[in-house]
Parts: sequence; structure tokens; C-alpha cells
Amino acid sequence: MTTYKGLNMRFTTFLKRQFSCLLILLMFTTQLFALTSQQRQQVGKIWSRSFYQQADTFYDPIIEDYVLRLLNDLSPNAKLFSRDIHVILVDDTNLNAFSVIGNVIGVNKGLFYDLNHSDQLYGILAHELAHVGQNHLIRSVEENKNKSTIMLASILAAILISPESSELSTALLVTSQGLLQSQALAFSREMEVEADRVGIDMLKHSNVNPTGMYDVFLKLQAGSLGYNMPGEYLMTHPLTINRLSDMRPRTINQNEIQTPIGKNLEFQWIKARLGQPTSIKQLDDCLKENQNAPSKCWQQQYKIHSNNILLSTIYAESLIAQKDQSGIELLKLQLKINPNNLMIMSQLMLGYIEFEQYSLAVKLLQQLPDHRNPQFHQIAISVAIQANNSFLQAKHQFLQLWHSGHAQEAMAYVDRIVLLNEFDLATKNRLRAFYQQYVNVQGAAN
Ligand SMILES: [Zn+2]
Repeated sequence: MTTYKGLNMRFTTFLKRQFSCLLILLMFTTQLFALTSQQRQQVGKIWSRSFYQQADTFYDPIIEDYVLRLLNDLSPNAKLFSRDIHVILVDDTNLNAFSVIGNVIGVNKGLFYDLNHSDQLYGILAHELAHVGQNHLIRSVEENKNKSTIMLASILAAILISPESSELSTALLVTSQGLLQSQALAFSREMEVEADRVGIDMLKHSNVNPTGMYDVFLKLQAGSLGYNMPGEYLMTHPLTINRLSDMRPRTINQNEIQTPIGKNLEFQWIKARLGQPTSIKQLDDCLKENQNAPSKCWQQQYKIHSNNILLSTIYAESLIAQKDQSGIELLKLQLKINPNNLMIMSQLMLGYIEFEQYSLAVKLLQQLPDHRNPQFHQIAISVAIQANNSFLQAKHQFLQLWHSGHAQEAMAYVDRIVLLNEFDLATKNRLRAFYQQYVNVQGAAN
């Protein structure tokens, strides 16, 4: 009797679960396209959190700023729900890029190795933004009910039903297991052609020559892109002869569109900074000859293009790497001319750390917005510890726990801090206020 009852109860629970799964899937068809901008951002945030936990990402204010500026050039001509774009930098020398709902664009370091012109990078980014704008991920979830899209579906469902529920943690767990399989975000051939067409229009409207985009795909097809295997990209973006012949008439002979030369110069400088050959022979030769003192070569460039913020930041970085304090002075000067520029502020913070000027680094850190990249928080924590600033230390410990999906532990941590005597009252109050503010923001985002 007991056994039967137990079995029956288990069976009922099982049925209930099945039913709720069915309900979730039913909700999809009606609600997916109706996702609000905030819900999309939430999906993007959760997805990024999972991705950061497993993939090799890196924190680089210079590359991040550059990629974001290219994306911002394109975004007014992309059908996005919001202009707020998050860039994930992946520490992988293979050629690859991806996009996720909520304007998350992932960019492999390898793009700066294999590509040789900024128009080519613009082409890849336009293609990715087109996937986002055309709702391709959502359409994939609906059209093919395969394993990978169901994983994404479970995150979406969890967000729609109850953003802080246990379903969300389950969804995250499932997602994290399959997230890195490259097929997870693959699109259909039709969607690829559509992303090409929409991407090409986006480039033209943004005054970027689309020939660069054709170049990339032509090279991808020919397998002639350097020594790095482009296989990963082709797996997630199936390339066919049809795609290329569809792209060709739309992209070649577009000489009337001239991309501003500055963007490509910046592209070349980033390549050089990563130790890759560029189209600037003078810089390449100089860097080869002065491997231990590259700042000399950056100075030559800086003399010609002293009003370029990215270049002066790279020049300052090379000075700081050679323990030359004038790098700090250059960044301070740039910050005066460009107040609130995140790239300069972040780079200056890194510079202060290099010179062990932790309290100055902390001051800048307090002005920087929170970054999704956990490496940013690791830097923040170590700075706070070095500067012996207990509030920051506590705040970033809280953020670490929160961002790694341990919301409960984060709350418990704050409770513990508030009880602990080693923190002064002001710190306790500030932390409590910060915690409340954070929970409110998270609440509002749902
Ligand atoms: Zn694609």
C-alpha cells in the first residue's frame, strides 16, 4: 500500500513535471517573439554569465572599445531592440564570431590574426548583428526542435516564468553543459543567406564598403585564411556556393563607398599590438628591430596621428610596460581631453596597478561601471585587497558570487559581513545599500 502510494505520488510528480514542460513549450510559440527588450537583455546576461564561466575570455579595454565602436557604427542600421551591445572577447586564435539574443556579440582574438582590413571585420560584425536583428536564434528555437535549441529554450522559458526560480538554475546547468559545442548556435542555410543580405544593406547604409565582407567569405571558402583553421566558423555559419554567388553582385564594384581610413589604421595598430604583421611596413620593421623597446615604434606612429585616442592609449601602454611613468601622464592628459572615456580610464587603472599605485587605481575603479567580464572583477578584487579597502573587497566578493550564479551565497555573504565586527559601520552600511540597489536593479530588469 505504502509502496503503491509512494509510486503513485512519484508518478503524479512526474506527470506534473511533464505537464509544466509542455506548458513551457506551448508558451514559447506565443511569447518568444513578444520578448521585451529587457527580457532579451536578461537572456543575454544569463547566457554571457554561463559563457564566461567556461570559455577562455580576456579583458582588454582597447580591443573591446574598438569592436564596440565598429558595432555602434552599424547598430543604427540594424533592427535591434536596444542599442546596448555587449562584446565578449574570446581568447582563441581561430577565426570565429557569434551572436546571442540580447545584443551579445562574441569575437575571437583570431579575427585580428586572419583578417587584414577593418572592412572585413565590419562584414563579420554586420552578419552577426543581422542574425540578432532578424531574430534568427528565436526562429531556430521554434523551427528545429533539436537538443541545442531546446537548451536555449529552457533559459528563455525560465526567464519568462520566474526569473529567480530554481528552473533558472536548472536551465543554466543544462545550458552550460552544451554551450561550448559549436553547433549549439548554428543557423540554417536560409538564415545565413538572409544574414548576408541584411548585413550587406547594413554596411552600405553605414557607409562601409561591403567588398570586405565578400573577401572574407571568399577566403573562408577557399580555405586560404592564414594558418588558422576557419572550420569552427563554417560549422556555425554554413557557407555554400549559393551564398557566395548571392553575395557577389551585392558587394563587388562598390567603389563609391569609401570607409573612413582611420578605422583601418586602428585595425592595423591592434594587429601590431597582438604581434601580427600589418599593412604598415614602417611599424612592422620597427617592432621587429625593437622587440624590447616597442614604445619607440609607437611613438613614431603617435607623432603622425597624435589626435587618435586608440593609438595614444597603445603608445601609453607600451611606455608603462617599459616602466616609463610618462605613459601614465599621457593617459591622464588624454582623460582630460576625453573625460569619462572608459578605455582610457580602464587603461589608466591598469597602469596604476603596474606601478603599484593601488589607491589611485581604486579611485578609478569606483568610477568605472560594473563589467560582465569576471576578469574585470578579479582585477578589482586584487586592487581592493592591495589598497586595503574593505568595502570594495566586500563589494566585489559579493559581485563574484552573484555573477557566477550563486545569488543565495551572495546574500548570505552580505548578511555575514553585516554581522562581522572587522568591518566598520560605514562599510557595513555602504555594502547593505549597494546590495539593496543591486537587488532592485536585478528586480527591475526582470
Ligand atoms: Zn551566420
